[in-house]
Amino acid sequence: MVKQAVDSEVIRVSARVRGVVQGVGFRPFVYRLAVSRGLIGFVHNDGRGVVLEFEGPHDSVVAALKALETEAPPAARVEAIEWVEVTATGGRTFEIADSADEARVETLVSPDIAICEDCLREMADPGDRRHRYPFINCTNCGPRFTIITGVPYDRPRTTMAGFAMCPDCAAEYGDPADRRFHAQPVACPVCGPRVELRGPGGESVPCEDPVSEVRLLLKAGSMVAVKGLGGYHMACDARNSNAVQVLRDRKTREDKPFALMAADIETVERFCEISGEERELLLSPKRPIVLFRKKGDELPEAIAPNNRYLGFMLPYSPLHRLLFGGGLDVLVMTSGNRADEPIAYWDEDAYEQLAGIADYFLTHDRPIYRRVDDSVTRVFRGGEMLIRRSRGCVPTPVPLPKEYGENALGCGAEVKNTFCVTKGDRAFVSHHIGDLINPAAVAAFEEGVEHFKELFDAEPTVVAYDMHPDYFATQYAEKLTGVSKVPVQHHHAHIAAVLGEHGFEGPVIGVAWDGAGYGPDGTVWGGEILLAERSSYERLGRFRRVPLAGGDAAVREPWRAALGYLTETFGFQSGTFDSILPGISGEIREAVVAMLDKRFNVVESSSAGRLFDCVASLLGFSGGVNYEGQAAVELEQRADPRETRHYPFTVTDGEPFEIDWRPAVAAVAEDIRAGTDRTVISARFHNTAARMVAAAAERAREITGLSSVALSGGVFQNITLLDRTLPLLERARFDVLLHKYLPPNDGCISYGQVVAALASL
Ligand code: ZN
Ligand code: ZN
Ligand code: FE
Repeated sequence: MVKQAVDSEVIRVSARVRGVVQGVGFRPFVYRLAVSRGLIGFVHNDGRGVVLEFEGPHDSVVAALKALETEAPPAARVEAIEWVEVTATGGRTFEIADSADEARVETLVSPDIAICEDCLREMADPGDRRHRYPFINCTNCGPRFTIITGVPYDRPRTTMAGFAMCPDCAAEYGDPADRRFHAQPVACPVCGPRVELRGPGGESVPCEDPVSEVRLLLKAGSMVAVKGLGGYHMACDARNSNAVQVLRDRKTREDKPFALMAADIETVERFCEISGEERELLLSPKRPIVLFRKKGDELPEAIAPNNRYLGFMLPYSPLHRLLFGGGLDVLVMTSGNRADEPIAYWDEDAYEQLAGIADYFLTHDRPIYRRVDDSVTRVFRGGEMLIRRSRGCVPTPVPLPKEYGENALGCGAEVKNTFCVTKGDRAFVSHHIGDLINPAAVAAFEEGVEHFKELFDAEPTVVAYDMHPDYFATQYAEKLTGVSKVPVQHHHAHIAAVLGEHGFEGPVIGVAWDGAGYGPDGTVWGGEILLAERSSYERLGRFRRVPLAGGDAAVREPWRAALGYLTETFGFQSGTFDSILPGISGEIREAVVAMLDKRFNVVESSSAGRLFDCVASLLGFSGGVNYEGQAAVELEQRADPRETRHYPFTVTDGEPFEIDWRPAVAAVAEDIRAGTDRTVISARFHNTAARMVAAAAERAREITGLSSVALSGGVFQNITLLDRTLPLLERARFDVLLHKYLPPNDGCISYGQVVAALASL
């Protein structure tokens, strides 16, 4: 504490501020703070954050110290302020000193930050020298992570290195009082990047004002690839149903919802219900895609077929902001890729990859160093529930439960891969890498790991990875030398992630429900109830196993999974399934039933996700899935929120105990035969699944005496399920732990792996 003193007594303090405090306008902020209070002293960056000294009247110094946290720039994240009183030296000025030139930098790299109000104002001002300039930015906003090539963060180590500042920009950059002081991407129309219009083959289309031209093209129904912060988007006018359908056809993206970008929040409000928390997320500097409940049907159904939600984001780069106006207020802004490939981010790749999809390209000459997808998030019970943690969130670290002496690398899973590099008590979980079955995603993984090691000066000595021998990430880990290798079971990693995020040691009852993960017993796991600590686990229970004909084929075609459940429930009498899987031809169906009967090419799985697939099929989902979890997502959309009844099931004794779904499957079939409305059946099934979680937790409590339950796995992205599960658990006096910083899907696995591995050392 600063000693109790006369208000006007002069004191001097020396302070260090840690967190995201470099590249976010922190030093100019401190400068203004000091000057406005008549304080003298200095501020500079060093390898571990911002160092400053304030000298002046006691009360002013105390107020300034407090303001470091309460008035910090929007993009800053103050983690800690440590200070001591030192001897007053006297003097006249407050100075921003040059960065102490330390070789290694431990300060956090900032994520990309959405355009700020000040820059928006300048951009709209015809008298400003950056009027309508698509690359306007300042210390509070602009690209960061996507343009940083190395550390420490300064201009030569960004993709702005090739742009020499004009005298005006250089003056702003060098003036401590200016809001662009040391804004590394500072630029203007004289010296900075420029936009360019290109044709379908990437050939230059000369025009006076490419942005205005693109607005006209979009208005006329064209598909335009737009270069954003972390990659290309495919854009079209979202009000033009023909354009939306053309984009769907060209991208061969049959059903997966398209993300939308609206000019402003008022526009989003016209199409969606928005709560206070949702508004805050939508407007936050990370500018994620937020899922909102749709209202009305003013926008084409093809944007998000069979879905009650729309994913909206607001313009986050100045270039995006300039696309609106002139009759355009909502754009489809979907990832610029073909089918399941990662989004294009190098210009030449984009021209090639998006040939046949894009009519035009709106591109520019500021290179993107890292491919980073948009983050996707939603609000659940007033809190944020991430679905994809990427642009705007990364590389902000996720805390580890404690400081570790060794650094770890978590290699993640196969689908929705992320990797994770740790240092001390921080885990740097990567942006969304994608599915590691794709060569471009594999390359992004390998380069990304190297980049993170360099950015955060962390050489891992521990490598944690999934047990699945066929995963690329597993093989990658196995090839590494000179490190300790720790395989971590997939569902344990899910629960360890929740434990790590809460800084909780365990033990806990872990309910890990997803599609599939490698089980050490040679079967596929996915509906698991674990007794879990961070370092170890025991399998207490699981779903009754189902035979899946053709293994992965049953994931792509949910009706195959359904036949596994049906034959287990009803046996093999022919004709049983005629009325309940009507969409599937008799011949194909019989062939699959025969495979199941002979146990030929059949995989046994305790998956929870497949049970959702099964019920979706029974309710008419007869095609193949063209995005992960599609059948379950569509099933969820159908559920009638008013229905309260549920189906029977049993929890059988045994080690592990078993949730037997056969009574539920039989009851669903019975309801279908009886002609019960599908919305009611879907709701009853969700109620049943919620009761399965609660019953399994209850059984686990009987065995272990524990009353804390952690939920993870892609199945818990289903908020209809969560919404029905949590009250049951709470009424039964369980403490429920959900993810805090990471998504429940496999995007959390890399973090869970390092949490488990570090705890086991
Ligand atoms: Zn700004
Ligand atoms: Zn300039
Ligand atoms: Fe999983």
